[in-house]
Amino acid sequence: MKYMDEFRDGELAKIVAANIAREADSGHRYNLMEFCGGHTHAISRYGLSDLLPSAVRMIHGPGCPVCVLPIGRIDLAIQLALEHKVTLCTYGDCLRVPASGGLSLLKAKARGADVRMVYSTIDALKLAQDHPEKQVVFFAIGFETTTPPTAAILIQAKALGLENFSVICNHVLTPAAMHAILAGQGGERLDGFVGPAHVSTVIGSQPYEPFASDYGKPVVIAGFEPLDVMQAVLMLVRQVNAGRAVVENEFTRAVTREGNKKAQALVNDVFELRDAFEWRGLGTIPLSALKMRPAFAEFDAELRFDLQYHPVPDHKACECGAILRGEKRPQECRIFGTVCTPENPVGSCMVSSEGACAAHYTYGRFKDMAVVAA
Ligand code: SF4
Repeated sequence: MKYMDEFRDGELAKIVAANIAREADSGHRYNLMEFCGGHTHAISRYGLSDLLPSAVRMIHGPGCPVCVLPIGRIDLAIQLALEHKVTLCTYGDCLRVPASGGLSLLKAKARGADVRMVYSTIDALKLAQDHPEKQVVFFAIGFETTTPPTAAILIQAKALGLENFSVICNHVLTPAAMHAILAGQGGERLDGFVGPAHVSTVIGSQPYEPFASDYGKPVVIAGFEPLDVMQAVLMLVRQVNAGRAVVENEFTRAVTREGNKKAQALVNDVFELRDAFEWRGLGTIPLSALKMRPAFAEFDAELRFDLQYHPVPDHKACECGAILRGEKRPQECRIFGTVCTPENPVGSCMVSSEGACAAHYTYGRFKDMAVVAA
């Protein structure tokens, strides 16, 4: 298959669904976690759960970059924008993530802070070049997919000798989060993972091998189209049925075992591991995030502005933590769709289209209502 439409072919999806239904043991419960928010969105958007037999349950994972950002990290960005009067640049989804004191970056902007949405890291660098009188800070978020572009602008900023540009680094690591999930209380009930698509183009399939060898959990890396996900589920069901646990790659059109060596080298030149990092829902995970190497310390906004991180608990009613750990579903949060909506998010999972709550609100809440009405 060469074209996008072919990966969205409904008739083919029904054939794969029939294979899953035939091969899944109705006496077994297959708990499969899709780690990535892109898969969560695809499952909701294309109604894939409805195509699966009741024995197969998809569990949303923590792979949405905005969702896993804890409130304390957003607070740092707001502090920079409001108190240090910097020009704070970040990707669009970050702007609406609720922070302390009823604030978000968007609300800080309404109070006069210079907060800009950018489409790429280059936009932030150009702002710094065009406005030497301003301190420009890029609030960098994301998994391994968005880390190489941040590394690239830091190398460029250093080459240009830019003194008014810096980065708050919130880049996090997928395998560390998967380890945390498997080592946690709910890890044992998982039967396997649908592995990330874009992340795996960078890191390759090799880093997932310990989940198969050490934890006995199969991983199938899948693309983001509906047929990719359905095929990955079939491959996982087959592994579970055969008592096998290996890493398989459904997304062969983009992912290799080694990944993108050039991007990995770029990241390695600029970043090193943080001792620990707080994730929303997963707590503080050792060696799960990146910070700038000493050679790039002059561009580290946390050092430049002497920022101190303070953990902040989530809103009392918000179940984002349990959802990110795969313990609850969005509709189990008592303020889902009432107090908390995409227009007025209370938790981070309602902000990005990759967030489990936002995806279910957009594509699944009508089905909840139909069940209640019946
Ligand atoms: S509905 Fe809102 S408050 Fe509830 S878990 Fe989802 S994001 Fe958090």
